Amino acid sequence: MPRLVLALVASASLLAQAPAPSPITITPPATPTMPGLFRADTLPKTDATRILEEIAAHSEALANLTDMCDTIGPRLTGSDNLRKAQAWAQDKLKAYGAENVHEEAYEFGPSWTRGTDSARLLTQNHQVLQIAALGWTVPTKGLVRGEFTYVQAKTLDELKAYHGRIGGHIVMMGALPKLDWKDPKQVAAFKEAMSSFSHEKPLAMLLSSEKKDNHMTMAGSPESEAGRPKLPTAFIANEHADLLKRLAKRGEKVELELQIGGTTSAQPVKAYNVVAEIRGSEKPDEVVILGAHQDSWDLGTGATDNGTGTVAVMEALRAIKALGLQPKRTLRVILFSGEEQGLLGSEAYVKAHEADLKNIQAVLVDDLGTGMIKGWTMEGREDLAPALGAAMAPANVVGCKELFFGTIPESSDNWPFEEKGVPAFFGYQDFADYFTNTHHSQLDTLSHVKPDELIQGAQALAVTAWGLANAPERLEHRVPAKH
Ligand SMILES: [Zn+2]
Repeated sequence: MPRLVLALVASASLLAQAPAPSPITITPPATPTMPGLFRADTLPKTDATRILEEIAAHSEALANLTDMCDTIGPRLTGSDNLRKAQAWAQDKLKAYGAENVHEEAYEFGPSWTRGTDSARLLTQNHQVLQIAALGWTVPTKGLVRGEFTYVQAKTLDELKAYHGRIGGHIVMMGALPKLDWKDPKQVAAFKEAMSSFSHEKPLAMLLSSEKKDNHMTMAGSPESEAGRPKLPTAFIANEHADLLKRLAKRGEKVELELQIGGTTSAQPVKAYNVVAEIRGSEKPDEVVILGAHQDSWDLGTGATDNGTGTVAVMEALRAIKALGLQPKRTLRVILFSGEEQGLLGSEAYVKAHEADLKNIQAVLVDDLGTGMIKGWTMEGREDLAPALGAAMAPANVVGCKELFFGTIPESSDNWPFEEKGVPAFFGYQDFADYFTNTHHSQLDTLSHVKPDELIQGAQALAVTAWGLANAPERLEHRVPAKH
C-alpha cells in the first residue's frame, strides 16, 4: 500500500499531519500483458528457469493466502490477529526449510480495536449512513445527536470563518484549502486552524471516502493521533457524503445521530517484524531482502494489501528451498508490520540494523495489490538499471520486463532503505482494481485476487532476487538525488 496514494485519496491523513501530495512520477501501466503461466519446455534449464517452473507447478501462494485471510482475517498492527498471522507465517517458513526464522520487536504505540459505528439522518429522508471510524480515533460518548455543518473552504481565511460555528455540531470536511503544501508556514497555519476547530468541541468529524459505490477507505495511526485534540472522526461513504452535501447546499437544517466506537489501549504495545533466511554459500554476510508488509487495515481481510505480497515472498523462498538451491549471497525474507500506520516496521528495522545496512545488496518490495509484476521502479537509481535488468531477465518470459524510471515517494517499506542509500526497488504491478476497489476498503478480500498473477508475482520476485543474490557485482549505495 503506497502511503502516498493513501495521502492523496484520504484527506484524513492531512488532518493528522502535514500533507505531502507529491505527484507520482511514473505513468500507469497499459493493459496487462501477462503471457500466461510459465512452462519451460523450450528454454535451457538454468537455476532461474527451474525456479519459474517450480512456482508455476507447485505454488502454495494461493492456498496460503486463502488460509491467512479466511482463518485469521484482517491484521491490524497491535492486534491479536496479526500476532496469529505472524506465528502462522513463521511456522510455514520453518516448514519450507528457512533458516534463522525469528521476530524482531519495536515500540509501536498504543493498539486500537474497532468498535461499533453507526449514523443516520434525523431530518429529511432519515437515511441510514455508512460510516467507519478512522483508525486510532477517540470514540464518541455513545450515541450523539447534533446539527450537521459542511465545511467548505478554498482558502485559510474561509476555513477560519467557520470558527465559532461548529461547537456541538457534526462536521464534514470538504476539499482542503488550496495552499502551498510544501510551505511549512502555510502548513503550520492550516494545522493551527484545524486545531482551533477541534477545541470548539464539535461532536464528531466525517471525511468522505472519495470512492464510488459506497466503497470505504481507511487511515490513521497512533503516531498521528499522539498530541492531537480529541475529535471523534470517521469516514463516510462517498454517496452518503454527497447526500449530506446536497442537503447542506439547500440551506436547510440537517441533524444527524451517530456513534463512533473503538478502544485504544492504555499502554503502548510492541510490534514485530518476521525475518527468515536462506543463508548464502559464498558471501553469507551480504544480503538481498525480499520484503512485504503482513499487516493490513481491518475493513476487509487484507487480501491484496498486502496478503498477496506476503504470500508471494514466502513462495519465492519456498521454491528456492524446494529445489535445493543455495544463493551466493543470503536471501532474507522480511514480513514487515506497521506499514499502514506510516512504514513503522521498516523504519524500525532500518534503525535497528543501521550498522549492517552496508551489507545489503538490494531490497525488493511487493506491495501494489493483486496485479502482475511488470517490472521494478528504479526509485531514482537509474544507474543500477543494467544490474537490475540482468537480474530480472529470466523473468521476462512471464512479463516482468520493464524498469520504470521514477520514484514513488514513501511508497512502501522500500522507502526507509532508500533514504539510507540502500538500493531498494518497488514492484511495479498492473493496478487491477486496487485503487478503484480494494485499497483499504471492505472489498479487500480474496474474491478480488487474481490467482495466476499472484503466481507470476512470486516468479518475478524469486527470479530477480536470485539474480541479485548471485550477481558478480555489488550494487553501489547512494541516496538518490530526488529524496
Ligand atoms: Zn500496502
